Amino acid sequence: MRASQMFAPTLREIPAEAEIVSHQLLMRSGMLRKVASGVYTYMPLAWRTMKKIMDIIREEMDKAGCQELMLPVVHPAELWQQSGRWQVYGDELWRLHDRHGRDFCLGPTHEEVITDLVAREIKSYKQLPLRLYQIQNKYRDERRPRFGLMRGREFIMKDMYSFDRDQEGLEESYRLMYQAYTNIFTRCGLDFRPVVADNGAIGGDASHEFMVLAESGEAGIIYCSSCSYAASSEVAEAYLDRTPCNEIPGEMKEVETPHCKTIEDLTRFLNVSPEKTIKTLCYQADDQFVLAVIRGDRTVNEIKLKNRLGCLELTMASDEVIKKYLDSPAGYVGPVGVKNIRMIVDREVPFLANAVCGANKEHYHLINVNPDRDFSIEETADIRLVEEGEICPECRAKLLSARGIEVGQIFKLGTKYSESMGAKYLDENGKEQLMVMGCYGIGVGRTMAAAIEQNYDADGIIWPMAIAPYHVVVVPVSDRDREPEQMQAATKIYQDLLAQKVEVVLDDRKERPGVKFKDADLIGYPLRITVGSKTLAEGKVEVKMRATGDVHYVELDRVVAFVKEKLNLPEERGF
Ligand code: ATP
Ligand code: MG
Repeated sequence: MRASQMFAPTLREIPAEAEIVSHQLLMRSGMLRKVASGVYTYMPLAWRTMKKIMDIIREEMDKAGCQELMLPVVHPAELWQQSGRWQVYGDELWRLHDRHGRDFCLGPTHEEVITDLVAREIKSYKQLPLRLYQIQNKYRDERRPRFGLMRGREFIMKDMYSFDRDQEGLEESYRLMYQAYTNIFTRCGLDFRPVVADNGAIGGDASHEFMVLAESGEAGIIYCSSCSYAASSEVAEAYLDRTPCNEIPGEMKEVETPHCKTIEDLTRFLNVSPEKTIKTLCYQADDQFVLAVIRGDRTVNEIKLKNRLGCLELTMASDEVIKKYLDSPAGYVGPVGVKNIRMIVDREVPFLANAVCGANKEHYHLINVNPDRDFSIEETADIRLVEEGEICPECRAKLLSARGIEVGQIFKLGTKYSESMGAKYLDENGKEQLMVMGCYGIGVGRTMAAAIEQNYDADGIIWPMAIAPYHVVVVPVSDRDREPEQMQAATKIYQDLLAQKVEVVLDDRKERPGVKFKDADLIGYPLRITVGSKTLAEGKVEVKMRATGDVHYVELDRVVAFVKEKLNLPEERGF
């Protein structure tokens, strides 16, 4: 490719709306252009990288016995009604109707369509396991599309669905995908970590997210400083200290606490530590009013709480609703004396003694509250967020926290969709059984963006070799008019590299060397070959490695061999 013909309009300025590095660099390097909020055009350079990521994904999927197909983007509402998700999916589902007024949606994910297909076509145990995948646009009308390709409304996803005869089969499919994902992200040059993830109300370690470690990541990760425990902060647990408190229970008393609506106010006013307080939060879980009771220094994890309650919507209850159920202003709510209201008590709370909590009365709290004695606990659960510095639930070492970008997720679905969509088969005994399913997704654009978040410097992108749009740029320092021998030598190198199937760009533009070098760094070619008069006089060129900044002076007749060695590309590869 000649740079003079390449469609890669680079920008010197950072576009105002680009908040994170990958978004800024994708825009500045001319790789990405916005069409609408969360909707982008992949320019030629970006598309080359996307195709490389997709090729890696395809190779690993095929190796794991998966078959590629292509499902439609447009889904009839009936399929989504059958699974129950037409109602559940909410505003993220991009709905439309045809000229006859029939309802459709644009696929945000494809469990319904594929399970319906498999239900119709597969009849016997002999046809299982079946592992089917596609790489396709997905549509989600995200509440906050942002960070460029990280959270788009139209984005490319690889989604795979496994259909097995039983749980054992699913375990095998899951294991294969765990390995395939590990291979894919390793080959893409990413520093990542699989973590235990939220899987809705199913429980167990039925899902893993593959997190690329990066400060800009939207996801929190909690991991152990010593063992292999790692979980999304949505589900992370900490060691529960079950040592009973040996304080002698005091007499519960009401005390006046004017204007102490927060735990901070309260601990200051009563001079108690926050670990000795009990916080009671009021929620509206669909149409049920519920209380979450937790230690005052902890934070409720609403994902855990939602999974525990099994509700669709969980919101904080309004002051009016709280008043209606408890006859108390929000800042003074407590568990003592509460009747006929579902109360989820965090599992740490029963171990407290002589604690402080709201008295369900304005300007009053209770002191010397002893759980079980002063209020009955019917339902305990882990409903709190775990923070850095807490203790590992598996080995008791210290937990650490990090930010991550979720590039992929694998999920044991079980029979949820085979049941609703009727995906059954006949076993060896002619008995009808439900297929056991798994689903497995990778965001292709998010993977590309994540690779940039981990590989850049002040000058631009530093592509991992396997997904660089091109491997080499050849830059003649001066343009053809003034010193034609430079352009001649550069063109020869370019052609020799092309003949060897090296992906190379010749910067033949009539631009100042500074501009060419800046663009080369911005786009992030792993190797830059500079052809200048000084080195040329000695029969050499300069080869600079983008990642390390290392510079080599190489004889003209050795350039091709040198480049191939540096690229270390397998013989059959090359584009
Ligand atoms: P998130 O929690 O970030 O919203 P998700 O859990 O909804 O993602 P999945 O349904 O598991 O995502 O989709 C599989 C993969 O698709 C994700 O791991 C991610 O890489 C990618 N992905 C999901 N939503 C988006 C989006 N809006 N833009 C770009 N990629 C996305
Ligand atoms: Mg996910």
